[in-house]
Amino acid sequence: MKKHILVIPGDGIGAEVTTWGKKSLEKIATLFGHEFTFDEALMGHVAIEATGAPLPDETLEKAKKSDAILFGAIGHIKYDNDPSAKVRPEQGLLKIRKELGLYANLRPIVLFDELLGASSLKPEILKGSDILFFRELTGDVYFGEKKRSEDRKTASDLMIYSYYEVERIAIKAYEAARNRKKILCSVDKANVLESSRLWREVVQEVAQRYPDVKTEHMFIDNAAMQLIKDPKKFDVVLTANLFGDILTDEASQIAGSMGMLASASVGDKVGFYEPIHGSAHDIAGKGIANPMASILSAALMLEISFGLKDEAKAIVNAVDKTLKQGYRTGDIADSSTPSTHKLGTDAIGKIIIDNLVK
Ligand code: NAD
Repeated sequence: MKKHILVIPGDGIGAEVTTWGKKSLEKIATLFGHEFTFDEALMGHVAIEATGAPLPDETLEKAKKSDAILFGAIGHIKYDNDPSAKVRPEQGLLKIRKELGLYANLRPIVLFDELLGASSLKPEILKGSDILFFRELTGDVYFGEKKRSEDRKTASDLMIYSYYEVERIAIKAYEAARNRKKILCSVDKANVLESSRLWREVVQEVAQRYPDVKTEHMFIDNAAMQLIKDPKKFDVVLTANLFGDILTDEASQIAGSMGMLASASVGDKVGFYEPIHGSAHDIAGKGIANPMASILSAALMLEISFGLKDEAKAIVNAVDKTLKQGYRTGDIADSSTPSTHKLGTDAIGKIIIDNLVK
């Protein structure tokens, strides 16, 4: 398979970890006989420094021409301490999401057995958890009309969805469910909210097109409880922007560390793959960031954008093997990890690439 991939390393540890995401794609190409070509572009603080814009036109053009994008992270401490700054790194990320129509945010919550001790939840509850969230990303109260009364003592945010917005993300979630355990849980608040009733109606209609997938509807309050009571019962979870925002943060605790979690934002065109973490000023430049979220983001790209399931699995297996060998970065090391097994970004990245086999 021939694919052209744009790499946007971004700021801070973004650049440090993306090196290893890219190396895993290169190794996959060699092992499985694919032809992946790469280009690189600027976004975030580095782009502002070089061009004055957080998302230079050149980056957007390259993004539109690529088959998939591997992104690191954006952010710099100088903007965090100056909320009034007019030009900001995150504007680049928001703009590229809008320009590329990335309405579906996928966040797989995969817990590696070796990291059972890294979570605050009991191992016996977590063991075997493997959830794929589909959070709608361009609608809901985030984009509905915002109002404040003249006396400024009353405020409202319009929760709004249209049929096509629900339908298109539901289709993506069902397609993914077909390639997993074929169980889809749609989360809403249809007992109270009209927009949720529309959500449920649309999901019920889309469900008829996927009779091989078992559909369950769950209210958000119940889902928040069930998620930590019995995470294993979930496979694909489909939900709206606000509910997804809250539920996925809750669910990230199932996997232990931010450094382990990959994400994909997809629309109708090019897919955008990134770790869930930011540029991590506190550890940037120290060579200790966990590269696994970027490596697992590369696996998501192979599976979701290119349909290369075996290749994606090979990457996940390489991460798993590395953890089984006892190797850890600082964020996932516990008191039982010998100091000889605690490694920096490049050392553990190299072991994962060595462990990557067909
Ligand atoms: P962060 O995700 O960068 O870091 C949070 C904590 O997790 C830090 O202690 C960090 O050291 C640790 N951490 C994160 N990733 C890690 C990894 N791979 N290995 C080991 N430890 C890791 O969040 P923050 O500190 O709130 O934000 C820092 C900057 O990142 C800010 O400028 C923020 O705006 C930006 N940010 C960007 C994105 C993005 O690009 N998608 C997302 C979140 C935050």
